[in-house]
Amino acid sequence: MKNADTAVSFRTEIKSWLQKNCPISQRQPIIQKEQIWGGRNKHFYNDDARHWFEAARDRGFTAPEWPARYGGGGLSADQAAVLREEMQDLGCRPPLYDQGLWMLGPALLVFGTEAQKQRHLPAICRGEIRWAQGYSEPFAGSDLANLQTKAEDDGDFFKVTGSKIWTTRADAADWIFCLVRTDDSGPKQQGISFLLIDLASAGVSIAPIPLLSGDSDFCQTFFDDVRVPKDNLVGELHGGWAVAKEVLRHERQLMASFESMAEKPKLNIIDLFNEHMGNENAYGISSTDIRSRLASHLIRDSAVKQLGNRIAQQHEVQSVDSRLPLLMKYLSTREVQHKNEIILDILGTRGLSLASPDNPELYDSMVKQWAFDKALTIAGGTSEIQLNIIAKRALELPSASTPE
Ligand SMILES: Cc1cc2nc3c(=O)[nH]c(=O)nc-3n(C[C@H](O)[C@H](O)[C@H](O)COP(=O)(O)OP(=O)(O)OC[C@H]3O[C@@H](n4cnc5c(N)ncnc54)[C@H](O)[C@@H]3O)c2cc1C
Repeated sequence: MKNADTAVSFRTEIKSWLQKNCPISQRQPIIQKEQIWGGRNKHFYNDDARHWFEAARDRGFTAPEWPARYGGGGLSADQAAVLREEMQDLGCRPPLYDQGLWMLGPALLVFGTEAQKQRHLPAICRGEIRWAQGYSEPFAGSDLANLQTKAEDDGDFFKVTGSKIWTTRADAADWIFCLVRTDDSGPKQQGISFLLIDLASAGVSIAPIPLLSGDSDFCQTFFDDVRVPKDNLVGELHGGWAVAKEVLRHERQLMASFESMAEKPKLNIIDLFNEHMGNENAYGISSTDIRSRLASHLIRDSAVKQLGNRIAQQHEVQSVDSRLPLLMKYLSTREVQHKNEIILDILGTRGLSLASPDNPELYDSMVKQWAFDKALTIAGGTSEIQLNIIAKRALELPSASTPE
C-alpha cells in the first residue's frame, strides 16, 4: 500500500513538474530543425526550447536513469517509465538529442573508468559536448571488424591515422568515439580498441559528403597522425570490440524505437485512405489492393508495438530476453518502410510532388520521410546483417560469416 501511494505521488509530482516546466510550444510533434542538439555550438530555435532544455537538464531529465552524481536524474527503471509515460501523455519533445546520450554514455557507464565517467557523462547530460560515431570505414561497414584506422603506441599517447566514413554530423560535433586498430597480428575482432577523440585535435579534418537531396548530414572524418592521450582509451587495450557491441546494442534499440527520425507530420493513415482513395488512385492502383496492404500493415504494426511493450516491461523488471531487441530493430524499421510505401501509393501523384497546393508542408515531409526512412534498415547494421545475427543468436542456427 505504501509503495502504491509513493508511486502515485511520484506520478502526480512529475505531471505537475512537466506542466510547469514544459512550455506548450514544446508539446508539439518535433520537427527536425527545432531539435535541440548539444555541443559547444548549441543552438535553440526559440526561448521556449531553451527554457525546456534548461529545466530538464537541471532536473537530470536529459538522462533520467543515469546516476545523479554523473548529471542524470537518478531515477529507477519504474520511475523513468512514469516520466516517459507522462511526457508522452503531454506530448513533450525530447529535451536533448545527442549520440553521446543515446550510445556512448550507456557504454561508458559499463566500461568507463571513474575518471572517464566524471569527465564525460555530466558534459553529455548538460548538452555541453556533442558526440559523433566513428565506426564505419570505406572498407568496413557490415564487416566492421575489418577496420583499418590505426592507433600506434606513442608514449603517453596513441597516434591515430586513417579515416571514418558516414560520420553523421561530425562537422557539428565536438568529440568522436572511434574504433581503431591497435593490433593486426591475430583475429580481426581481437585487435580493436575504443578511443575518445577531441575533434579539435591537430591532424583531424572533416569533409561533408553532399547528398542528392542537397542536404549533407554525412561526413568523412580524416585522422592524420592525431595524438590522443592514453587516458581516452575505453575498456581494455585490444578489447574495444566488447565496448563497440554495447554501443551497437543501444544504437539498435534507438533505431527500433524511432518511428521516424525525419519530420513527423500529424497523419493518420486510415483518414488518409478515406480522404484520398476513390476506386483507384492516379496510377490505377485499386483501392482493394491498397485496402488489403493497409490491413496487413495495421496488423503487423500492432504486433510490433506489442513486442515493443513487452521489451519495455522486461526492461522495467530488468530481465530482458536479449533476442527480442534483435527482432525489434529488424521488424519495426521494415514496418515503417511498408507504411511509407502505402502512404505514397494512397497519395498517388500528389505523393510524387515535393509540394501540394492544399498542404505543402505535409506532402513535402511525406516524400522526405519516405526517402529518409530508407536509412533505418541500413544505419546501425543493415537488415541483412540483422537477419544473420538473429539466425545465429536468436535461432542458434549454424554459423554464417556474421561480423557481430
Ligand atoms: C542514416 C545513417 C547514418 C549513419 N551514421 C553513421 C555514423 O554516424 N557513424 C558510422 O560509423 N557509420 C554510420 N553509418 C554507416 C552504417 O553503419 C553503414 O552504412 C552500415 O553498417 C552498412 O555498411 P556499408 O554502408 O559499408 O554497406 P556494406 O557493408 O558495403 O553492405 C552493402 C550491402 O551488402 C549487404 N551485406 C554485406 N555483408 C553481408 C553479409 N555478410 N550477409 C548478407 N548481406 C550482406 C548489406 O546488407 C548491404 O545491403 C550510417 C548509415 C546511415 C544509413
